[in-house]
Amino acid sequence: MKMRIFARWATVFILLVTLLTGGAMAQESMPKNIILMIGDGMGFAQLTLGKLAKGSLAIEECPVGGAMTTDPLPSSGVITDSAAAGTALATGYKTDNGIISQTPEGKALYTVLENARDKGKATGLVTTTRITHATPAVFATHIDDRDNENAIAEQIVNSDVNVLLGGGLRHFVSKGQDGSKRSDDRDLVKEMKAKGYTFVKDRQGLLDVTNKGEGKILGLFKGSHMSYELDRDANKEPSIAEMTKAALDILSKDQDGFFLMVEGGRIDHASHANDAPTTMADMIAFDEAVKTALDFAKMDGNTLVIVTADHANGGLSIGMGEKQWAKPEILFAVKGSVEEKIAPMLKKDSSIENIKKIAAEYMGVTDLTDEEVSAIQQGLKIEGKWTATDPIVKVINERAHIGWTTHQHDGSVVPLFAFGPGSALFSGIKDNTYVGKSIFQLQGGVAQKVAFAVLGDLYVVPKEPVLAESK
Ligand SMILES: [Zn+2]
Repeated sequence: MKMRIFARWATVFILLVTLLTGGAMAQESMPKNIILMIGDGMGFAQLTLGKLAKGSLAIEECPVGGAMTTDPLPSSGVITDSAAAGTALATGYKTDNGIISQTPEGKALYTVLENARDKGKATGLVTTTRITHATPAVFATHIDDRDNENAIAEQIVNSDVNVLLGGGLRHFVSKGQDGSKRSDDRDLVKEMKAKGYTFVKDRQGLLDVTNKGEGKILGLFKGSHMSYELDRDANKEPSIAEMTKAALDILSKDQDGFFLMVEGGRIDHASHANDAPTTMADMIAFDEAVKTALDFAKMDGNTLVIVTADHANGGLSIGMGEKQWAKPEILFAVKGSVEEKIAPMLKKDSSIENIKKIAAEYMGVTDLTDEEVSAIQQGLKIEGKWTATDPIVKVINERAHIGWTTHQHDGSVVPLFAFGPGSALFSGIKDNTYVGKSIFQLQGGVAQKVAFAVLGDLYVVPKEPVLAESK
C-alpha cells in the first residue's frame, strides 16, 4: 500500500518537474530579437564560391544547419521568384510568383515584421537592392504585382518600419526630380521626414546618424539597386555589413527587442548574369554582414540569427564540361562586374585594342583569342538582355571552369542555418513556409491586436502550429 502511494506521488512529482523545466526551457529558447538574413539567389554553389575565396565563412559559425525547399504554389510551377519565396519566409504561406504577401485571391498575409511591430518591437529592413524590390517588400507591404514599386514605396511610408536601408530613391522622389520613376508629385522622402524619419543618402550620413543613435532612419543610397560589391565606391555607399551594424545599433536600443531582415540582394543579379566573380564578391559581402549579426548575437545572448536564401540561381556549378577541374583563383583577379562596369566601358569603345586593354586591367586576362574578341564585339552591337555580357562572362567562366545552366532561378534546395535561442527548430530539410511559421511561434504567436483584425477578416495568419522544439 505504502509503495503504491509512493509510486503515485513519484509519478506526479516527475510530471511536475517535467512540466516546469519544460516550460522554463521553452521560455529560454524564445529569442528577444530575431535577425533573418537572406542571400537572394544564394544556393549551395554560391555559398561554395564564397568559401573558395575566403577559406571559411562566418555562416559556418552557425551550429544548426540544414536545407530548405523553395517552390511557390503549384500554379506557379516548381521554380520560385523572390516575391513568392519571400512571402513564404515572411508570412508562412505560399503564394504565386509576382505576388507580395497576399494570397492569389488578394487577401493580405500578415508578416513576421508586422507581428514584431504590433508587439511593440523595433523593426528594420536592410538590402542592397531597391528597398521596394520583392524581398524587402514582402515584409512590410501587400500588393498583387511586385513591379508596382511606386505603390510599394507608398506603402513603405505607412509601414512604421524603424530602419530602412538600401537603394531605390527613384521611387521616393516626385516626377521631374532627377532620376524619378514616379508619375505623380508625391515626395515620399519629405512625407517620411514629416513622420519623424531622418533621411540619409550616403555612407557618411549613415555613420553620423547612427552615432547619434535612436529614432527612425530612411537611408536610400542609390536611385536603383546599390552597386555590386566589386563596383562599390566605399566613400559613397555603405557596405551591407556597415548597414547591418547601423541597423543593429539603432534597433537594439528598443527595450522590447527587434526584428531585422537583411538581404544580400545582388548575389541574385550577378548569378542571373552568370558573372561568377561578381557573385563571389557579393556572397562574401553578405557573409560579412552575417558576421556582424553573429557578433551582435553572441554579445547579446538573446538574439536568434537565421541565415537562408529565397532560391538558388543559375544552375551554378564549380567545374564544367568534360574535364574535372576548376580554378577559382581566376575569379579573384576580376575588378568589376561585367554588367555594370566592364560591358559599359566596352560599349563606349569596342576597338580590339580597348577590349584587350580592359580584359587585362579588369579581368586579369592577357590571352584573349581572336574569336573571343570578335564575339565580344558582336555581342556589344546586339540589343538584348544578356547579349553584351554573355561573351564577356564566358571568357572568365571558361578559364575558371565555372558552369552555369540558366540565366534564371533554379529549383534546387538552399542553405538554412541558425544561431542562438530557438535555432534548434531549423535543422534538417524544411520548407520555406516552415521558417515563416517558426518565426511567428518564436515571437510567442500573433500579436493580440491582430486577433481582432483576423476576426474582422483583414489578415490571414498561420493557424497550423509548428512542431515543438525537440530539445
Ligand atoms: Zn532573381
